[in-house]
Amino acid sequence: METYIKLSTLNDFIFCPKSIYYHNLYDNYEKKLYQNEAQISGTIAHENIDNKTYSSSKNVLLSLDVYCEKYWIAWKIDQFFIGDWKLVERKNKIEKIYTWYKYQLWGQMFCLEEMWYEVSHLQFYSMQDNKIYKIYKPNSKELLEFENMIEKYKKFDLLQKHWQQNTQKCLKCIYRELCDYFIWEVYPQLSLFE
Ligand code: SF4
Repeated sequence: METYIKLSTLNDFIFCPKSIYYHNLYDNYEKKLYQNEAQISGTIAHENIDNKTYSSSKNVLLSLDVYCEKYWIAWKIDQFFIGDWKLVERKNKIEKIYTWYKYQLWGQMFCLEEMWYEVSHLQFYSMQDNKIYKIYKPNSKELLEFENMIEKYKKFDLLQKHWQQNTQKCLKCIYRELCDYFIWEVYPQLSLFE
């Protein structure tokens, strides 16, 4: 039976397919043991959404589990404002709107639309600097790219022989200490115990 794809897994896949394995492995541990400083701040800042204490209004859906049968994706939305039909994803600090960020909001929108909610506005909220980033709905080309990414994910074989890591991404990767694909020789300045 096909299982749902978590939007965070799709994010991992876009960053590096191998990171999915390590993300699942680390899921069993306390997040503070492996997250970097920015990620820990994000987790703390997100707590009042995760525990649904951010708002008591009936017109604001908080931390709602959503699914989309069409794409077999699943996730938890941060905030959806009924009446304004506004979907908001909160992040600790946004430096740039990556394609993955858009996929995350679009994926949530597809889930809500399947639940018969109208979604008129999509936006990110950057908590540290209090900035709002409005996101448009995907055009037909972007929708196709989104669908292709999901297909690519479904067909990807983690054990395939002909796969090349992106060493620049490895450098930023929080799983590099564990990963067999991290080439320490490429970065002589790094230490395992930095
Ligand atoms: S260290 Fe490199 S290959 Fe390994 S998971 Fe991270 S980005 Fe991927």
